Amino acid sequence: MAVQVSVVIPMYNEQEVLPLLADRLRPVLDGITDDYEVLCVDDGSRDLTPALLHKLARDWAQVRVVRLRANAGHQAAISAGLALARGAHVVTIDADLQDPPEVIAEMLTIARRDGVDVVYGVRNDRSTDSVFKRATARVFYTVIRRISGTTAQSDAGDFRLMSRATVDAINSLPDHNRVLRFVVPALGFPSASVGYRREERAAGTSKYPFLKMLKLSVDSVTGFSLFPLRLATYLGLLGGVFMFLAAIGLVVASRTGQTIPGWTSTVVIVAGVGAVQLLCLGLLGEYVGRMYTQLQGRPAYFVATDSLAAQPSPALPVNPVNPVGSGQPGSAADLPVALDDPLGGRQLR
Ligand code: UDP
Ligand code: MG
Repeated sequence: MAVQVSVVIPMYNEQEVLPLLADRLRPVLDGITDDYEVLCVDDGSRDLTPALLHKLARDWAQVRVVRLRANAGHQAAISAGLALARGAHVVTIDADLQDPPEVIAEMLTIARRDGVDVVYGVRNDRSTDSVFKRATARVFYTVIRRISGTTAQSDAGDFRLMSRATVDAINSLPDHNRVLRFVVPALGFPSASVGYRREERAAGTSKYPFLKMLKLSVDSVTGFSLFPLRLATYLGLLGGVFMFLAAIGLVVASRTGQTIPGWTSTVVIVAGVGAVQLLCLGLLGEYVGRMYTQLQGRPAYFVATDSLAAQPSPALPVNPVNPVGSGQPGSAADLPVALDDPLGGRQLR
């Protein structure tokens, strides 16, 4: 049974913050509608989170608890939530109250008023993040913007509202290591943003140690760019040019008798073979990249409306709030349609 709003919250060992979260989130959602669900995705917590969630679900009818069998990570936990959420609009928010729940009401108003599919929460003040976190984030976004051409805003994390059509589109992607903050902008659906102040974590400690941050960075780069695969091609080309120039110089040097006999030919051969090998590796990378893009199976487009499918029909109620891509279950207009050419549209660069 569909609901108006789903709030997906990934949680990993959040026993300290959970009661605070419930106290702050509940009035916000109750103020919007009764017809919502709070989908708590317990990402294999080993503390009292499961017990606290169990109790919360008893006291708060709209709470739904999904427990993953093992710790799968923040992005995977959100993906699980998106796959199970039933809302016409779905909000994803961290459990630690760094993202203020009050902004959800604002996001929903904007989505309904402007008919946009995505409303990003954008941190316009990151002073509560550590200097290290801010510095690494800046470098990371500069690099990834360069090599992948993503339109993701550097201050947009995983606090966002999505329409049913957007969630269906994400769920249709076969990617296993999705980094949603890049996947969602890559869809290119109509969007808006709201600014908010990023607070300190309300309780407990960060569940993102350095290794998890590193995995997120690797997933982002490899999921959105073929640049690492092409590195060999670029180095090979560079090596080839270098070898050509060096060969001219070395031949001149050997003619004027400034080298040991045999040295020139050895250096030129070694450099030449190196360049050719790198180029071949790059060529292999190109083919691997094409296979990878194909495997990712990102549709080249998503249909928003089709005048034939949008004919008023009792079987397909039109959502008056968001008729374009309303995502009513069974609405053919919202199903992603994959092209035979998976390299068209929004493929990797
Ligand atoms: N989280 C999760 N699984 C993990 C790590 C984190 O579900 O393996 C959740 C965590 O409970 C929180 C959100 O992801 O709701 C963001 O984590 P955190 O606030 O610790 O990250 P930070 O804000 O420090 O980057
Ligand atoms: Mg946090």
